[in-house]
Amino acid sequence: MPVDIVTIPCLSDNYAYLLKGPDGVVLIDAPEAAPIQQALAVRGWGLDTILITHHHHDHVGAIAALKAEFGATVIGPRAEAAKIEGLDQLVAGGDQGGSGAGAWQVLDVPGHTLGHVAFHFPGAHAVFTADSLMALGCGRIFEGTPPMMYQSLCTLAGLPPETMVYSGHEYTQANASFAATIDPDNPALQARIARITAARARNLPTVPSLLSEELATNPFLRADQPDLQATLGMAGTPAADVFAHVRALKDKF
Ligand code: ZN
Ligand code: FE
Repeated sequence: MPVDIVTIPCLSDNYAYLLKGPDGVVLIDAPEAAPIQQALAVRGWGLDTILITHHHHDHVGAIAALKAEFGATVIGPRAEAAKIEGLDQLVAGGDQGGSGAGAWQVLDVPGHTLGHVAFHFPGAHAVFTADSLMALGCGRIFEGTPPMMYQSLCTLAGLPPETMVYSGHEYTQANASFAATIDPDNPALQARIARITAARARNLPTVPSLLSEELATNPFLRADQPDLQATLGMAGTPAADVFAHVRALKDKF
């Protein structure tokens, strides 16, 4: 049985996702109750499980309302348990759940927050990355360090290239404007930016994105590439240092 994945715009620029598979309906992150309730209602779905990536309010704010309405089991990062109300099960990297095409594995992806996790569904060729790896970008480093975030991105970059990346925000247009300044000679990036601009002009989501395309165009994943290092005047520099430089430029962009 293949899984069905629904993208739900929430708040001003967040995304939550519903995944319907062999274990029922799973929600990834809970930014806002009303659009999630509506997405469930129009499909006649209940809600069995809520997976939480990190403690920020725009990812957990609707846990209480959805749990009260549906009695869903809420699963989230052990390292952030003290900061998240309503968790029923605690997980960390290497833990697993679900079954068949709905089976998931937890990846530790600290940096944006120290306990941030991603949920990889190998059978669905999907990874839910929230504010770690994003389309043409990565989350701002609030709690961790640049080497920590770079390691997290490398973990995600090592997933099968046909994996679809479901990130937590619609930040792609701004990320594209920045990427164009960092990697101006990358034809794959130029082609992708044209598609992103067309999609946003019609108010369409730019997520999910294909991991292989992130590897070819996301400047934060290309910190180890000689052509990008040369463009930045950083040939031969350790990739984690190149990443830290690019992240610092983005913070000021
Ligand atoms: Zn966040
Ligand atoms: Fe967020």
